[in-house]
Amino acid sequence: METIALPNSDLNPSRIALGTWAIGGWMWGGTDEQQSIRTVQSAVERGITCIDTAAVYGFGRSEELVGRALKEGGLRNQAVVATKCALNWNDNGPYRDASRARIEQEIDDSLRRLQTDYIDLYQIHWPDPTREISEAAETMRELKQKGKIRAVGVSNFSVEQIREFEKVCPLSAVQPPYNLFERGIEDELLPALREDGIGTLTYGALCRGLLSGKMKRDTQFEGDDLRQSDPKFQSPRYEQYLDAVEQLDRYAQEHYGKRILHLALRWLLDQPGVSVALWGARRPDQLDPANEVMGWSLDEKAKQDIDRILKDTVKDPVGPEFMAPPTRSEV
Ligand code: NAP
Repeated sequence: METIALPNSDLNPSRIALGTWAIGGWMWGGTDEQQSIRTVQSAVERGITCIDTAAVYGFGRSEELVGRALKEGGLRNQAVVATKCALNWNDNGPYRDASRARIEQEIDDSLRRLQTDYIDLYQIHWPDPTREISEAAETMRELKQKGKIRAVGVSNFSVEQIREFEKVCPLSAVQPPYNLFERGIEDELLPALREDGIGTLTYGALCRGLLSGKMKRDTQFEGDDLRQSDPKFQSPRYEQYLDAVEQLDRYAQEHYGKRILHLALRWLLDQPGVSVALWGARRPDQLDPANEVMGWSLDEKAKQDIDRILKDTVKDPVGPEFMAPPTRSEV
């Protein structure tokens, strides 16, 4: 497994990270606790040492399961635990809250749920437009000084917000959405992060399963699964994405003897500026393809071929904006 040093820290996470949003159950049609625990343990055992979670995933449940898995498996010291704060919630659901009071309460809740006395990478989940950025930045800087966290990150921030934050607190990583189908960060954010020397943990490597190759025209989702309202999964756009997957899968087989899932992850890891790709899984066997992502790379010609396939198939692209949580006054 490839690893990478993150700036402003002594962290050296695996370049593939396990994403544990689905393990929390909420917005993913529920969770199986034993499977979830085994998935986290299996990830670390196979060298996927970076585990990404958030307080809001299952309203604490994902963190609890990650904590139990690492504790029961005796794996805490091998893992790079990344979690997130600054979303609050009430009966109407989550909302942005990057106040000092909220972050100071959340760090202790997260440490307790994760059964640990330090968090490796602590990230502001979403910017809160109702507060000054410096308030969250100062709070995070102090948490690092106190030793509760080893490194600071932000997620879903613009270049301007990142630079404002860095005036007060140096960042080790930024977490934006990025995958073959969601390329919004290529114009501005990714070049700026490369220029500023900040690490990236990019999320949604498989575009919520679309790039796994298992989605069919008649795939149904259970319960509160967010893919029921995800605009990519609605016809006729859904069929365009499925066509792209089919053609990319054929390309991967013909040129590399690989499948679409391997191609999707390899493409991400080969993009200049991507440090770590977050791959969501909730069963250990879903991580089996990880080995086949290592030990090869895509050349420029392949990247151009891939872009041509995407241009020819996805005529009506849409981004991940539907996932953005509201502010306090909007809930
Ligand atoms: P993802 O990695 O794009 O896709 C995950 C889904 O792909 C899984 O739930 C699973 O679907 C399917 N899958 C995984 N491995 C598979 C395999 N081997 N074969 C077939 N299907 C497979 O999705 P994501 O969970 O949205 O993103 C990854 C992580 O990024 C999250 O868990 C979270 O840690 C992070 N994230 C962060 C933010 C943020 O705002 N910072 C937002 C979104 C995500 P099934 O569930 O159907 O099995």
